[in-house]
Amino acid sequence: MLVVDAHMHVWEHLDGIVFGTMRTSKSRYGKVTYTGADAKSDIARWMPPSFADSAAPAEMFLGYMEWAGVDKAVLLQGPVYGSQNAYYADLRQRYPDKFIFSYAFVDPRDPQRAIKDLEVAVKVYHLNGVKFEPPHTPFWLDDPAVIPLWDKIAELGIVAAVDLGWHPERTYHMQNDRFEKIVARYPGTPFVLLHLGGSDLGNLEQQYPFPALQRTLGLRKYPNLYFEIGGLVSVCEHDEYPYTRVQEIVRAAWEAVGADRLFWGSDWPYAEQMCTYPQNVNVIRKFCDFLPEADKQKILGGTAMAFYGKRGQEK
Ligand SMILES: [Zn+2]
Repeated sequence: MLVVDAHMHVWEHLDGIVFGTMRTSKSRYGKVTYTGADAKSDIARWMPPSFADSAAPAEMFLGYMEWAGVDKAVLLQGPVYGSQNAYYADLRQRYPDKFIFSYAFVDPRDPQRAIKDLEVAVKVYHLNGVKFEPPHTPFWLDDPAVIPLWDKIAELGIVAAVDLGWHPERTYHMQNDRFEKIVARYPGTPFVLLHLGGSDLGNLEQQYPFPALQRTLGLRKYPNLYFEIGGLVSVCEHDEYPYTRVQEIVRAAWEAVGADRLFWGSDWPYAEQMCTYPQNVNVIRKFCDFLPEADKQKILGGTAMAFYGKRGQEK
C-alpha cells in the first residue's frame, strides 16, 4: 500500500512567530524558547526529549519514513518555524522521489511583501503551494487588504492550505465563515483544510458525530476543497493508541466527504509527543475497520498522490 504523509514539517533553522508576538528559537531536548512581550513561559515542549538539539532535519524524517513504511511526504510550513522556502526548494531537488510537493511560507500581515515573496517562492524556488495559519500571523482571511494576495494565488494557479487553529475561544482562530467566503470566491483554486479545520475536536463534550465537525464538513459542497486529517492524535491526548476517538473522527469525516477528498498526515515531529510515528499511521492502516480497503488506501496515500503528485512537478 502506497503511504503518503501529507502533513509534516522539517526545518533547517528555527526563527518563527507564535500568536503574532512571540519569537521562537531552538532550545534543547525537544524544547523551544519563546521570547517577546507575551512569552508567559519562556520555553515550550514541541517534541520528545530524544530530539536532543531540538532539530528536525529532512534526513532524520527520512529515517522515520523508512521505519514506519511511509513512501512519500508533503513538505508543510508553519509560522512557528520561520520561512523554510530555500530549504524546501533544496529538498525537492535532492529528494524528488520522497518529497512530492512543497508548501511556501509568506507573512500575510504585509500583503504587498507577501505577494513578492510568493512570486519568488513559486517562480524561483518552484514551491507548489502556500500555507496560512491565521492564529500565528494574525489576520482575517477575508480582509480586503489580503484580497490581492488571494488574487495572486489564483493567478499563479497554486494550492492554498489553511490551518484554522484549535482554540475557538481565541481571536483569529476558527475563521470558518471567512474561510468559506474565500473558498467560494476562488473556485479555480484548490484549497486544503488542515486538521479538519480544528472543529473544536479537543472538546471532549463533543462526541460522534461531532456537531462542530459536521458544520465544517458542510464545506464539502465546494468541489475545490480537500480535507486533511493530520495531527488528530494531538487533540486526543487523553486517549492512547489505537485512539478510539481519532478513529471516530475519521469515520465522521469519511462518511461526509468520502475518500476522494480526504488524506492523512502525521504532523511530525510535533505528534511524536503523543505516539510513535508507526503508531500514527497504524491508527488508520491497522485499525479504522469501518473503511473499505480501497478507501483506506486512498486516505493513506492514493488521494494525496492524485492531488499533489502532478501539481508538485509543475514548474
Ligand atoms: Zn503541522
